[in-house]
Amino acid sequence: MSTSTFVIVGAGQAGGRAAETLRREGFAGRVVLVGAEPHRPYERPPLSKGLLLGETTAEQAYLRGADHYGEQDIELRLGVRATQIVPSEHWLELSQGGSLNYDKLLLATGVRPRLLSVPGADLPGIITLRTLADAQHLAAAMAASPRVLIVGAGFIGAEVAAACRKRGLPVTMVEPLAAPMERALGTELGNLYAAIHRDQGVDLRLRTGVAAFHGTDRVEEAELTTGERISADLVLVAIGVVPDTEYLEGSGLMLDNGILTDQFSRTNLPDILAAGDAARWLHPALGRHLRVEHWDNAEQQGKAAAKSMLGNLEPFMPVLYFWSDQYEHGLQVLGHRSGGEDEVRRGSLEARKFTHFYLRDGALVAALCFNTPRDSMAARKLIAAGTLVDPTKLGDEGVDLRSLVPKR
Ligand SMILES: Cc1cc2nc3c(=O)[nH]c(=O)nc-3n(C[C@H](O)[C@H](O)[C@H](O)COP(=O)(O)OP(=O)(O)OC[C@H]3O[C@@H](n4cnc5c(N)ncnc54)[C@H](O)[C@@H]3O)c2cc1C
Repeated sequence: MSTSTFVIVGAGQAGGRAAETLRREGFAGRVVLVGAEPHRPYERPPLSKGLLLGETTAEQAYLRGADHYGEQDIELRLGVRATQIVPSEHWLELSQGGSLNYDKLLLATGVRPRLLSVPGADLPGIITLRTLADAQHLAAAMAASPRVLIVGAGFIGAEVAAACRKRGLPVTMVEPLAAPMERALGTELGNLYAAIHRDQGVDLRLRTGVAAFHGTDRVEEAELTTGERISADLVLVAIGVVPDTEYLEGSGLMLDNGILTDQFSRTNLPDILAAGDAARWLHPALGRHLRVEHWDNAEQQGKAAAKSMLGNLEPFMPVLYFWSDQYEHGLQVLGHRSGGEDEVRRGSLEARKFTHFYLRDGALVAALCFNTPRDSMAARKLIAAGTLVDPTKLGDEGVDLRSLVPKR
């Protein structure tokens, strides 16, 4: 095994953690980490939060110090894109010429922002946010006190709106749905976020989209589907993402809204695995494929996939987790809802401090913690335990949630 070459394509959260894990697990062969960006692996959550506010530096966002990869004998091939893979020959082609042979290949190429296809969408001043370079560009643009228009009130749009308001910038946010983040959080919490953004001075336009952008040398106005025109100097398009898998077309890999894998991160082709935002993996307990676009999933699945590469097969079925920070409000979401769960609330919506619990057949399957970070720790353990929970106790703020977690 020690003469083997393991190649990881995508030097992001999942790819970076996979490379480290290979070494931590004792793999002594060659590890090559190929990344399209010029940076060593870094975390993206600060890009829509602290980095825009000057509270986090790029240096703090890196997964590891610059020396780590040399010390661990991990070959970094940065600014290089995999352009094609040839599975029958265990071989991949690189954008700067040349190729790499692999014994095992992990695909962790993440996603890229979905673009708006309306007239004027390519005008200067209209941007997206995915990379460190995007965030640095946005932070610099924010310093010029622009009127900001955000298209899409999903997590990234809403977090950037919050950062811009903290900077005192005028912000309009346009969203076709009835509430911000409604698809992920539901109408009630979406409405709460709508109220929070409006309280903070965001001009929130719901149930409307952008029909066109206008401007001479750069964007000056957005025309909404209602016909109204909104002036803007800077437009962030944050309307979701698409998996970065074009380079895999024709390879024989099963692609369907991501790279399909089993519960061990293995694709349909021998010696090729996938992890992170790009992978749609079989969740053994749910019995269906999921593609998850959150930090914790990339972090855990990168590690799990590395172990699978080494033949250490453990089904990947974490308690799903993500968070979002907007203004002074912290949200943590755990588990997975399929719909039709029984709901119990602890705390109050009016006080803007509560936890929603979701139960199926008496067991906790998901929890949504709004300004209740301590509840999230116990909720994670309760979801993982899968045992029956008394809903009355869940809803009673006088009961310490930790007391409901079964003892091992
Ligand atoms: C602005 C922002 C804020 C976020 N905030 C949160 C948050 O608060 N909470 C949360 O849970 N999650 C958050 N996320 C999501 C989280 O960051 C992602 O889920 C995570 O980064 C996914 O990791 P990944 O390794 O799958 O992909 P990435 O980290 O995107 O890494 C993939 C890498 O692959 C590279 N690549 C693509 N194609 C190729 C190719 N052909 N060859 C070589 N390299 C290639 C890409 O350039 C990229 O560097 C946020 C994301 C963004 C963008």
